[in-house]
Amino acid sequence: MRIVRFTPGPDAELGQDPLFGVLDEDGFVTIISGDPIYSGIQKTAARIELSKVRLLAPVIPRSKVVCIGKNYADHAAEMGGKVPDEPIIFLKPNTAVIGPNDTIVWPEMSERVDHEVELAIVIGRICKDVPKERVSDVIFGYTIANDVTARDLQKKDGQWTRGKGFDTFCPIGPWIDTDFIPGNQKVTASVDGQVKQSAQLSDMIFDIPTIVNFVTSIMTLLPGDIILTGTPAGVGPLVVGGKVSVAIEGLGELTNKVAAQ
Ligand code: MG
Repeated sequence: MRIVRFTPGPDAELGQDPLFGVLDEDGFVTIISGDPIYSGIQKTAARIELSKVRLLAPVIPRSKVVCIGKNYADHAAEMGGKVPDEPIIFLKPNTAVIGPNDTIVWPEMSERVDHEVELAIVIGRICKDVPKERVSDVIFGYTIANDVTARDLQKKDGQWTRGKGFDTFCPIGPWIDTDFIPGNQKVTASVDGQVKQSAQLSDMIFDIPTIVNFVTSIMTLLPGDIILTGTPAGVGPLVVGGKVSVAIEGLGELTNKVAAQ
């Protein structure tokens, strides 16, 4: 199932608060009561056309976005680093999360802001020390993320909190797919229609079970937490006034505008 979070637009019957729904194959959304990550997928009888709603980030993590660095060999090489022997992790604040078609704001203090297409894991339950063979039990689904990065500040600071942590630097969406199984699907990023990153999920150095096992050996994950699984080679600058699209075969495409601060 594809789970969307949205505001209904001018449909007064449904109010204006964000709602969750299941995207049906006929282009309609069946509304879910409550938050599916916390209370399960409970469909109601109400439906609305997808074209009439405004999609939002499918989840706003209540605690954290955990990210994996250098998880594709060709990207580690383009950053001048070696392939790590265990996952490198860092955090983005949950306040960086935005949704489909929202605007990435280029901060004044940076002269170089890059795209990074990544598969994102959405955690479905509180978990710690998850064995690799139990990892699928704690995953609610998958979505697409753009790990937007102020590359000059990342390099200048020697650690990544500022370069990765600005508001709007974590677009996710357009939905959570609860049936997606990562394999050799194509992963791409395009700036104004020009493909800049192209790889396959199977190019990852550390796979999903290894990542979740490693992260939960360090910290407890909560429902709604997200793990970004790293980006392939081809990272490069966004363009103010332009659009960036990140896509994963079988999952969809997430597009955002870019504007100056
Ligand atoms: Mg990244």
